Amino acid sequence: MAVDLRSDTVTRPTAAMRAAMMAAPLGDDVFGDDPTVNALQAQVAERLGFEDALLMPTGTQSNLVALMGHCQRGDEYLVGQMAHCYRWEGGGAAVLGSIQPQPLAHQPDGTLALADIAAAIKPDDPHFARTRLLALENTLGGKVMPLAYLQEATALARQHGLACHLDGARLFNAAVAQGGDPFEAARAICASFDSVSVCFSKGLGAPMGSVLCGSRDLIARARRWRKVAGGGLRQAGLLAAAMQHALDHHVHRLAEDHALARRLADGLQGLPGLVVEPPQTNIVFADVAPERAAGLIEHLKAHGVLATGLYRLRFVTHLDVDATGIDRAIDAVRSYFKA
Ligand SMILES: *Cc1c(COP(=O)(O)O)cnc(C)c1O
Repeated sequence: MAVDLRSDTVTRPTAAMRAAMMAAPLGDDVFGDDPTVNALQAQVAERLGFEDALLMPTGTQSNLVALMGHCQRGDEYLVGQMAHCYRWEGGGAAVLGSIQPQPLAHQPDGTLALADIAAAIKPDDPHFARTRLLALENTLGGKVMPLAYLQEATALARQHGLACHLDGARLFNAAVAQGGDPFEAARAICASFDSVSVCFSKGLGAPMGSVLCGSRDLIARARRWRKVAGGGLRQAGLLAAAMQHALDHHVHRLAEDHALARRLADGLQGLPGLVVEPPQTNIVFADVAPERAAGLIEHLKAHGVLATGLYRLRFVTHLDVDATGIDRAIDAVRSYFKA
């Protein structure tokens, strides 16, 4: 079996997760009567400190309906250039929501400069789209956004009447990296936001599913848009049971993924032609000297290691890799650079 480090989305449901899915009481969630879905939504809302929550098939649809819940046609959201809900979702907010993005450059730590946020907020004038929302992401490219920054950026947005959305696809990676009780840390992050989207299909190891959290009003609007977007699922308790299992059993263990990412980064440090960024969570980025880049991904694949190299070489640790696999990946990379 290959060591698959392309993404933390590649995990297969564990035997215990499959058993939980098989045992789940089910109903029709479009009628609102799937007890497993309702219990999961209530629990996620409560644990993250929101009034309500909504099961979503994907993180992309979750961000989309959140943006559409906050913004009307002709409104605008401020967002980082590398943010998923701007760059990696096919322009969905603009294409499907008639919402204009205003992308901003990131600082080296992934944050958006407060001065850039302030400068991008448009005056109320018919020349401009109405700036309605600030959308942040945590973790962003595996980086943890400092809590003080999240508080300051969202406070600034609020002073200008904007709402605030967090793409927390990897919220629990950020929470675990901060130390202490991960649910308390997650709640502290979420406290600055009107809505938060969390992926269960990544490090948490569920086969699919995200949850969008927000006020009762926002979630009611999101529920309409989810149906419009074709995301109303029927016996979705099958999925919610997997997600519930992930919430109960796979949050604290994210620390193991972070430790393996550090092990990988340490093992790759110092190779000529490779600059490794020390990981904060479960994603290791490395920049390859351009003259060494061609053939690297194929070499790794031939040695049973899968990685991506769209922008930079990227390895992601997860539930289905262990130290042996990481050491194999280190050996595969080293054999390439030594050749
Ligand atoms: C993966 C991801 C999403 C989208 O999730 P899908 O379930 O793949 O649609 C959104 N935001 C971030 C930051 C992600 O990493």
